[in-house]
Amino acid sequence: MAVYNYDVVVLGSGPAGEGAAMNASKSGLKVAVVDKRREVGGNCTHLGTIPSKALRHSVRQIMQYNTNPLFRQIGEPRWFSFPDVLKSAEKVIAKQVASRTGYYAHNRIDVFFGTASFADEHTIEVVCNNGAVEKLVAKQVIIATGSRPYRPADVDFNHPRVYDSDTILSLTHTPRRLIIYGAGVIGSEYASIFSGLGVLVDLINNRDQLLSFLDSEISDALSYHLRNQNVLIRHNEEYERIEGLDNGVILHLKSGKKIKADALLWCNGRTGNTDQLGLENIGIEVNSRGQIEVDQHYRTSVPNIYAAGDVIGWPSLASAAYDQGRSAAGNIAEHDSWRFIDDVPTGIYTIPEISSIGKTEQELTRAKIPYEVGKAFFKGMARAQISSEPVGMLKILFHRETLEVLGVHCFGYQASEIVHIGQAIMNQKGEANTLKYFVNTTFNYPTMAEAYRVAAFDGLNRLF
Ligand SMILES: Cc1cc2nc3c(=O)[nH]c(=O)nc-3n(C[C@H](O)[C@H](O)[C@H](O)COP(=O)(O)OP(=O)(O)OC[C@H]3O[C@@H](n4cnc5c(N)ncnc54)[C@H](O)[C@@H]3O)c2cc1C
Repeated sequence: MAVYNYDVVVLGSGPAGEGAAMNASKSGLKVAVVDKRREVGGNCTHLGTIPSKALRHSVRQIMQYNTNPLFRQIGEPRWFSFPDVLKSAEKVIAKQVASRTGYYAHNRIDVFFGTASFADEHTIEVVCNNGAVEKLVAKQVIIATGSRPYRPADVDFNHPRVYDSDTILSLTHTPRRLIIYGAGVIGSEYASIFSGLGVLVDLINNRDQLLSFLDSEISDALSYHLRNQNVLIRHNEEYERIEGLDNGVILHLKSGKKIKADALLWCNGRTGNTDQLGLENIGIEVNSRGQIEVDQHYRTSVPNIYAAGDVIGWPSLASAAYDQGRSAAGNIAEHDSWRFIDDVPTGIYTIPEISSIGKTEQELTRAKIPYEVGKAFFKGMARAQISSEPVGMLKILFHRETLEVLGVHCFGYQASEIVHIGQAIMNQKGEANTLKYFVNTTFNYPTMAEAYRVAAFDGLNRLF
């Protein structure tokens, strides 16, 4: 068994591991990364964010082709299969892996492919994918092993018609009807993808509203547009059992309903990848979802061991995971790149896309903050009309006395990009974070960003 010494060993090469490794290396520390896959990128690149976003993009293009009259000159609307659109996603994954592999090489970070576990708090054993066993001795360790779909014991995931958000990427046909169990972000995004391919989707929600953390108006808009795409949303439902058939599945709900479909996609919860880490050898405990508790410096209960990304739970986003990993490494290197990440924007790649930052109307009302609303509807905006993207709205919530921007909520074309303008303004100090910026600044025309100017004037018009 070969033994290697490092300042920092990072477990996992998803966004959290990458952010940690890059920052530690740039701080002059000797760094190794271990990942049990055969390529870097983590579940984010191989199973989560990247494939789902690439699938969505292809589906949006197909929808544009099928609905824009311009394209009728070159052909009638046509449907593409799930495996067809998956091929384009696979190309993106390969490009991402190539870029990320280059980052590790440029920063002289050693990468080991194998499963890591703690022998003690400074010693990691790696069972490599080629069968060899390596020993890595580290002053500090950052756990960034991510998460996987939660699989309850009473659901048979070995049945060929029962999928989760990992195994759905091995689907070799396009179902006519699909049940998606769980209407969180992942379930709602896959509902958009499959309904865009012409699949009849039943979206089963355990709650009474879709994505209840969103501003209610935006959540209502999502429900409306999913229904418009033929998604049947069933609120307040819970499964009793899932019956596998030779040619499909029957979902038995506690409410007594039975739903039959060609396949079922389980999107109900995730669990931290901690079970193979040997945490019992170092005294780190996990909660019922396999997640590790950390302090505001991303330090676990063992002083030289940090954790970041999905393995610590909320917000379980690639965006936040990268910064958490970077912060953990910044803390180890004792420089100013450390920060606690609690101001995360929401980016949801349903069709239409959704993004938000700051307070919702419901939160402001509960807190008795006197706010006002300014809106811009995309259907009236030149850039949206040129792009044939009339669905959407930008809503700015601002304090009616100080004009401070308190929240930005957006759905429709480019929503996840547009929101960052509002985020930048909200992060300013004094007068710079008020609605005045949007009316006193010349925006490119035509742009989607212009929605801020339109919404700001709309909001100011409501004041008296
Ligand atoms: C379908 C889907 C869509 C998503 N869309 C978005 C989105 O649009 N935007 C967004 O911000 N987030 C999105 N997410 C969430 C995002 O993918 C995760 O938040 C992100 O991947 C977390 O990064 P991470 O670095 O913590 O872990 P991961 O990306 O999960 O990577 C962890 C790595 O550690 C490895 N590992 C695990 N155990 C061990 C071990 N014992 N030894 C060695 N290696 C190990 C794993 O194999 C994996 O490669 C999505 C997730 C899913 C499932």
